[in-house]
Amino acid sequence: MNNFCLLSNDVETTSIWHNALRDETGLKVLKEGMPMLLDLYEKYNIKSTFFFTGYIAKLYPEIVKMVLPFGHEVASHGLSHKKEHGFDVMPLNMQIHHLKESKKILEDLSGKEVVSFRAPALRVNGDTSRALLESNYKIDSSIASQRFDLFMSFGGLKKLKWLFAPRLPYISKESSLFSKGQNGIVEVPVSAMILPYLSTTMRIFPKITSYQRRFLAFETERSGKPIVFLTHPNEFIDEREENKIINKRSENPLASFLQDTLRSKLKSKNLGVNGIKLYENQIEFFVSQGFNFCTIKEYCSNSGLLERTENK
Ligand SMILES: [Zn+2]
Repeated sequence: MNNFCLLSNDVETTSIWHNALRDETGLKVLKEGMPMLLDLYEKYNIKSTFFFTGYIAKLYPEIVKMVLPFGHEVASHGLSHKKEHGFDVMPLNMQIHHLKESKKILEDLSGKEVVSFRAPALRVNGDTSRALLESNYKIDSSIASQRFDLFMSFGGLKKLKWLFAPRLPYISKESSLFSKGQNGIVEVPVSAMILPYLSTTMRIFPKITSYQRRFLAFETERSGKPIVFLTHPNEFIDEREENKIINKRSENPLASFLQDTLRSKLKSKNLGVNGIKLYENQIEFFVSQGFNFCTIKEYCSNSGLLERTENK
């Protein structure tokens, strides 16, 4: 098979500027972030995968419908991006409810079967594989193999399992998304090499990302591993004219500076138009290297991975 670059977009109401979930941000995502992304993909004739939360799909149904004419894949990003609805903390029956409900909302809006899932904040637990199978999903893209970010995101300790997950797409165990098996969900890991390779790092450390992509392209050349890049339309909107509310998580001034002020400053770097330019640079690099772009579902189907699970 040729070299593939799978671009993926998580669509939600998260405001990076305010560090909060906001319906107004969702509206900006619909009116500004999504059109920018769709134009960019059209310019390079790219098909990608959009993971929507059920919440934003219900709030602004047009956000799902607008991707359909371009042939992008509609996929689920769970029902809600609230921390208490993380797939690492919800019990099995709640995970199944969130998976089935978001699938139904997205299928009703798109008229297409939804088979791919990415957990909000990439948070999953030992039940998620079973929950996905029971809700008739076929593909997951929540594992960032060999990514190490103990202190950078929530659920850090559980994410240590990422270090030992296979690098190439695989059929997972029925009991775990983190290891290879025969009858489970097809896992398409998000690209990482210690640091995550996604648009947050791209905005904060553009130079590091340019080295990362060369390394990953070299790896693809050797092993055939597809590049899986994760971005969000909420990174390409501009909320800077609004007064920032920093939600303090700590009363200790030093901890508050490190965890809240500094983190929030870093995370807001290159939001908006600057961010989309950096993203276009990424895309141009892969175009120049002769990569092909397709949806995650198309990749799994063309590589035979989907067929292998379906024949069981
Ligand atoms: Zn998300």
